[in-house]
Amino acid sequence: MYQYDLNSLDPNNFINDQEILDTLEYAEKNKNNMELIDSILEKARVQKNGKNITCAGLNHREASVLLACDNEEKVEEMYKLAKEIKHAIYGNRIVMFAPLYLSNYCVNGCVYCPYHAKNKNIARKKLSQEEIKNEVIALQDMGHKRLALEAGEDPVNNPIEYILESIKTIYSIKHKNGDIRRVNVNIAATTVEDYKKLKDAGIGTYILFQETYHKESYKQLHPTGPKHNYDYHTTAMDRAMEAGIDDVGIGVLFGLEKYKYEFAGLLMHAEHLEALFNVGPHTISVPRIKRASDIDPEVFDNGISDEIFQKICALIRIAVPYTGMIISTRESQEVREKCLELGVSQISGASRTSVGGYTDEIRPTDTEQFDVSDQRTLDEVVNWLMKLNHIPSFCTACYIEGRTGDRFMSLAKTGQIQNCCHPNALMTLKEFLMDYASEETVKIGEKIIEEELANIPNLKAREVCENNLKKIEEGKRNFRF
Ligand code: SAM
Repeated sequence: MYQYDLNSLDPNNFINDQEILDTLEYAEKNKNNMELIDSILEKARVQKNGKNITCAGLNHREASVLLACDNEEKVEEMYKLAKEIKHAIYGNRIVMFAPLYLSNYCVNGCVYCPYHAKNKNIARKKLSQEEIKNEVIALQDMGHKRLALEAGEDPVNNPIEYILESIKTIYSIKHKNGDIRRVNVNIAATTVEDYKKLKDAGIGTYILFQETYHKESYKQLHPTGPKHNYDYHTTAMDRAMEAGIDDVGIGVLFGLEKYKYEFAGLLMHAEHLEALFNVGPHTISVPRIKRASDIDPEVFDNGISDEIFQKICALIRIAVPYTGMIISTRESQEVREKCLELGVSQISGASRTSVGGYTDEIRPTDTEQFDVSDQRTLDEVVNWLMKLNHIPSFCTACYIEGRTGDRFMSLAKTGQIQNCCHPNALMTLKEFLMDYASEETVKIGEKIIEEELANIPNLKAREVCENNLKKIEEGKRNFRF
């Protein structure tokens, strides 16, 4: 018999099924308990003490009560609070990235993923180092500085050595003023030894989605291949942390299981990492299942509406205020627009989910992982963000300066983000405007930079930033705080 214990190394204890069921029952019982709901919202409010900003966050039980509550007035309060927390911790910056698909060879049988080994309708492809170079040049020419590497699990076609070599290739390419400064990696669960190799290769965040925290469903959704092993998959982040990777990104694939169950599981996972390693996940992703080759999303009966999706985003922001939140191009422009307000801190732009997709003139679909809803160019996305009063940021400074794990958290907690991330965002946006933007985007961007300089509280930092902006105009690059 397993027992809930967030400090345990056994996933059946730290993602304990009975604890999730008890949480859902407690949430259902209390969903109209306004006194409790008010006290939970009160606990989560932004506290300002001099320069220090603290947000207490919520545990999985408290956050689940808010998720169950559908009183309109209270839901509005949740949205308002999510916006306040987002603003206090992240300001109006949105970090930009793009996925880079290396290989769609895969030995697993994941029933929702077109890469599954039995899919004969998808063309299988793996990029050579030369092809990676061309993809990276295409991404640099758009203005990207941060990538997320994606690959299927296949020890023969995509061994760890291939991933490591690819990372080395990516970091080595400097086309014109292009420079990929942070490579995040989303590959299958692996050993401490392999995670150490990824750490030594200089990766940013190690990302792995749990897909579902419901063990029985997990086993059915992953009927064959190494990913079938729920316990091994669920403890991947513990091994990554043990190997010294202290920026890890978690997520569930919404649509596979009941969202309330997943939401509680996701927060329990974050609580476990925080308890064991003193630092929670660096990011949480919120993918929803999409149509793809051999995959019809309609056959999964747990799809969630846009409204529920937004509520989940807002409650993640409230529950884990210092964890970045990522929304991909799986979502439409409209949904992304709403979620940006509610706490999303990173988005992808101009993504192609096909292997080798960036070098093709027309968006290829033969090796695609899923349909992309938001198909705009990076310039269009940057332009749109600025019109909505967000600052697109191509900053990668924290990783380069070694501000990972708890060092990033302390930056966030002491309110120094505004003196550090804000000028970094403005300087990297300036680089984008100088090197890649359209005329109209330049116009909007220059105005925003001018206005936002005033929002750097420390006068010395503001002055340094102003000087660096001038140097960027003169052709220099890569400044950071
Ligand atoms: N192979 C790696 C693994 O084992 O976790 C991850 C790489 S995979 C390219 C990245 C993620 O895409 C998966 O973790 C899954 O959540 C998501 N994904 C798979 N099929 C999808 C679909 N049909 N729609 C949306 N997302 C999907």
